[in-house]
Amino acid sequence: MNYFIKNATLVNEGKTFVASVFVSDGKIAKIVREDEPFDFGSATVIDATGKYLIPGIIDEHVHFREPGLTHKADIYTESRAAVAGGVTSFMDMPNTVPQTTTQELLEQKFDLAAQKSLANYSFYIGATNDNLEEVKKTDPKRVCGIKLFMGSSTGNMLVDKNEVLVRLFRESPCLIAAHCEDEQTIHENTVCCKDLASKDQVIVDASIHPFVRTAEACYRSSSKAVDMAEKFGARLHVMHISTQRELSLFRNDLPMKQKRITAETCPHYLWFDNRNYEEKSYAIKCNPAIKSHRDREALLQALREGRIDTIGTDHAPHLLNEKMTDDYFTSKSGFPSIQHSLQVMVECGFELPQLVQWMCHNPADLYHIDRRGFLREGYFADLALVDMNHQSVIANATELSKCGWTPYDGLKVHAQVTHTFVNGNLVFENGMFHEEHRGERLLFS
Ligand SMILES: [Zn+2]
Repeated sequence: MNYFIKNATLVNEGKTFVASVFVSDGKIAKIVREDEPFDFGSATVIDATGKYLIPGIIDEHVHFREPGLTHKADIYTESRAAVAGGVTSFMDMPNTVPQTTTQELLEQKFDLAAQKSLANYSFYIGATNDNLEEVKKTDPKRVCGIKLFMGSSTGNMLVDKNEVLVRLFRESPCLIAAHCEDEQTIHENTVCCKDLASKDQVIVDASIHPFVRTAEACYRSSSKAVDMAEKFGARLHVMHISTQRELSLFRNDLPMKQKRITAETCPHYLWFDNRNYEEKSYAIKCNPAIKSHRDREALLQALREGRIDTIGTDHAPHLLNEKMTDDYFTSKSGFPSIQHSLQVMVECGFELPQLVQWMCHNPADLYHIDRRGFLREGYFADLALVDMNHQSVIANATELSKCGWTPYDGLKVHAQVTHTFVNGNLVFENGMFHEEHRGERLLFS
């Protein structure tokens, strides 16, 4: 079906301008400037007057939990939450059950997504201490990257053998996306915390999390990853930066395309800080931990100055009863966020052109995604239409993630995605889904 998205305010490559977009054959066929005559034939017209048209968001960091953990989330439910939030492409992490550590298991995930996903997709292969040969078979044109846990998180895929790390950084055929927290530091802090708790010398609740998973643990690991990437020439993307201290590891004096070492942060490190633990408790427990007010301010600044390159969500659903265990040590880390990432980032005070840079253009460029992430003629028509004057309140009752709750419950927002197109198909329209089409596998150049 063809669409004519009429009189939208386009946000693209730093510019904001009124135009109409003709969508045909799954692509942006024509961007029609105001007053330019254009025959859109029998295309379905969508009046976008007063709304903003952005490239569909590319979320480079999600945990959709399939296979194996589908009581929390699955590719169908989470891709639905994604398109409702204007996300048209996602890249999913390998800490599922089984873990995605072979080419065969990786291709099985692509097959699942081809059947179930409403959005476009790619999957990381996970590195372990003993799968280097499998990792090296990864086709960089068809797979987004290699996930390296330099510190354990959900799923325990820790790579801690130095000779394996050296070879990985030297021989990796594609981008290494790293989770950096130092295991030894976290272990020592956990032991210390348990000891103090047993003597009633400390109250162990959610607010202790940044004192177990400390800024020091982050820095030790991320500085090691950056050192190794520099030494062995790897293309490194450090995920979910949560501290001020780590920012010195990244450059702001180069255009992103020239960097070999880049950084991501997530909406929750930009919105929450340690003062929120009292109200939100284990709902906002995640790895790395949400840290201080000063860290949050520094991260906001680092985005503005180009030291951090992308915003990915680290969407990581758990059931609420897996989190609210009343016990710090068993409460699961992670929460859903893909449906509300754009809304929350708007509430942070960012302008749409900035958010389009960090959530659409930069992920597309950083991963060399084929013809997505920009409003350009000939590119895939992955699009989101945003109403910037739509007051609403984020609520558990309207959470689309299978886990059925959100850490942003109760937050007043004023941006709302009204339409989402994936490959030229209108999949989300004013709260309703059109589910007859499936997303496509992302390709990389
Ligand atoms: Zn993650």
